[in-house]
Amino acid sequence: MKSKVLIKKASYDNVYPVIKDIFDVFPLDVENKRVFIKPNILGPFEKEKAVTTHPSIISSLIEILKEKHPKEIIIGDNPGIGGYGSNLKSAKVSGIYEASRGYYKNISEEIEEIENPSDVLDRLLVSKSILEADILISLPKFKTHTLTQITGGIKNMFGILAGAEKCRLHKIGNNPDKFVEFLVDVYQVRIPDLTIMDGIIGMEGNGPSAGEPRFIGKIIASDNAVSLDSVVAAMMGVNPNDIRTINVAAKRGLGEIDLKNIEISGDFEVIENFKMPSTFALGVTHKATSYLFGLNVQPPHLISERCKKCDLCEKHCPSGALTINDYPVIDEEKCIYCYCCMELCAEGAFELKDRLVFAKNVASKARKIMEKFKN
Ligand code: SF4
Ligand code: SF4
Repeated sequence: MKSKVLIKKASYDNVYPVIKDIFDVFPLDVENKRVFIKPNILGPFEKEKAVTTHPSIISSLIEILKEKHPKEIIIGDNPGIGGYGSNLKSAKVSGIYEASRGYYKNISEEIEEIENPSDVLDRLLVSKSILEADILISLPKFKTHTLTQITGGIKNMFGILAGAEKCRLHKIGNNPDKFVEFLVDVYQVRIPDLTIMDGIIGMEGNGPSAGEPRFIGKIIASDNAVSLDSVVAAMMGVNPNDIRTINVAAKRGLGEIDLKNIEISGDFEVIENFKMPSTFALGVTHKATSYLFGLNVQPPHLISERCKKCDLCEKHCPSGALTINDYPVIDEEKCIYCYCCMELCAEGAFELKDRLVFAKNVASKARKIMEKFKN
């Protein structure tokens, strides 16, 4: 049977009927069941920044679920690395806590260790509420991601990991290819039953937090997050085969990468001039050489005027590459290019340099490599 992806035009004032239609296409039997809702709460970002799932999606979803008499509803996430110091603070600043009407739970507090989730990972620390859920609904955001290119349905499930577990995975998965294998391992721990993506105002450029909001006007849903991500990549104007998470998940037989094998209904369109992260271009056009020499990566660049010296980036850098002297300084030799510091910083103080500077960096790295060969 073909995977199905539904795309509906929507605005934040009009979410309820759209989610109703989604449940008509993807009916879920939630009666007397524990339902867990997993939004994307990256950190303490206001909803206007388009970093987190919009609260109106949460409130409409709760309304619809309540009509179906579940036993329990829990809404939660593990925002950022180490929980940004406060899970509840992030939920409150994003408006999700209030929209959750008493169903929000700090799931970072109750953790369970699961053993041997893959050939490489010996154990994972996962929030207990996720493991106990009968039904899991994932609510990712339509965004780009400097490390994984897009942050979609597969990547949203990384938030089931609690505390410093994300940090540990970044450290042992210290290159994008390895890290993506881990992401898919985590996705497989608990595959969501339904994924509803907030694509009303998404993010282009250097997401997931330092990009620019972009109006897209769509909610996208599927009972298969891999197929959904493939359709989302195509909407962004890129080939799903060029997105590592989708590639790995499709190879494991978890969903469809070929749009011909997906039944897409509704308002599919390729978004004109959608900007991918600056880490994406070289990765695609010069894949072989860039992977070989690690040229498609650059450390984040600090805009010191924006830095409030809160020290979150220093605390959560998985490789110890970042230290705050007067301002944060990155040791390029130690940096594993995970972009966690950039993702974490609520002030948007880290950026990737523009492509011209980036290209110059690449040229300089290539020169250094050539010099090494000569010597
Ligand atoms: S760069 Fe951002 S996260 Fe790091 S210290 Fe400055 S404000 Fe805090
Ligand atoms: S400096 Fe930033 S990008 Fe580099 S390893 Fe640390 S958190 Fe990751």
